[in-house]
Amino acid sequence: MHAVLSASSAHRWLECTPSARLEEQFDDSKSPSAAEGTLAHSIAELKVTKYAIEPMSTRTFNSRYNKLKKSELYIADMDTDTEEYLDYIKEIMISYKYIKPFVAVEKKVDFSKYVQDGFGTADCIIIANDDMHIVDLKYGKKNMVMARENPQLKLYALGAIEEYSLFYNIQNVHLHIFQPRMNNIGQFDISVSDLQNWGESIKEIAQMAYMGIGNQVTGEHCRFCKASAICRARANENLELAKYEFKTPPLLTNDEVGAILKQAEDLADWAKKLKEYALSETLKGNSIQGWKAVAGRSTRAFTNIEDVFKRLIDSGIDENMLYEKKPLTLTAIETLLGKKEFESKLSEFITKSEGKPALVDENDKRPALKKESAIDEFLGGNNNE
Ligand code: SF4
Repeated sequence: MHAVLSASSAHRWLECTPSARLEEQFDDSKSPSAAEGTLAHSIAELKVTKYAIEPMSTRTFNSRYNKLKKSELYIADMDTDTEEYLDYIKEIMISYKYIKPFVAVEKKVDFSKYVQDGFGTADCIIIANDDMHIVDLKYGKKNMVMARENPQLKLYALGAIEEYSLFYNIQNVHLHIFQPRMNNIGQFDISVSDLQNWGESIKEIAQMAYMGIGNQVTGEHCRFCKASAICRARANENLELAKYEFKTPPLLTNDEVGAILKQAEDLADWAKKLKEYALSETLKGNSIQGWKAVAGRSTRAFTNIEDVFKRLIDSGIDENMLYEKKPLTLTAIETLLGKKEFESKLSEFITKSEGKPALVDENDKRPALKKESAIDEFLGGNNNE
């Protein structure tokens, strides 16, 4: 069961209060990357449990781990990534000399004091002295998540304070994001009183979100909103682009190019989602004016490849002719070995070419190319005309 106002979508319903109720009208299907994240979390939970909560024999650990490894989503990097996560947890614990911190993993926390019916699951809670750490493992590799003022972690922390403040004198809260696939580790510290003040400050907004009232507000947070394909506010904003007022002079200025590109990126994302939505509607038998669903290009396939090869070999074809030997790609070998073994065994054989200049958002973490190197790279040897 999900909370209407989940901690993980708080960054959205805090900005756009009707979004949580609008999202309820859409399927809750899990993407492949979300399923991959769930598996990585289960492995991480097992490792932290063994280290910090429930000592278990190697046999028990291996048997539980092997069950998880059987998943078709398992890749060797999950072992390394969760090992790094475990090291991070260990470091926090070891930083408290002479005491054994309290640790809880995959802990359901209730923050309904601030957000109606609000609850969620914190990956790892560590309490020692008057400190409480909330550590969140993020397994995505596309969107970097920041610890600073992160509302999801703040809500987990408020729930954990409700749960544990009777037993521990918690004064300081440390919120951590550990995102191994983006080399992103972040920490944000806040006092309990500041955190509780923040909790009080969002109560009214949360109540509006629970009731599904208020204005739809578009922004970055729309990207993963389940309603985003047919959200009217997002449509209006995207269609503003079509109304872009082209004044004189006849050529766009660089500032205009920047502004249009920003809108065009969102427009492309929205158009893709709108098309997926329209296809699912037509397949349900609902009509979308001006569009229809048709069968895609069909592909041919053998019903049973072994029978086919037998027939060919029986008819005199040399078996060697039926196979081609292809080397695995660098990425496939890295997936096979896992990052650590790949680097220790093969790093001396790897060269890395400079990437082609790419245009990205100004908030991207990579440093901007200097004028000369961008031009050299882009023009290569063609600049001597
Ligand atoms: S797409 Fe954006 S504006 Fe529309 S409901 Fe979702 S969060 Fe709100």
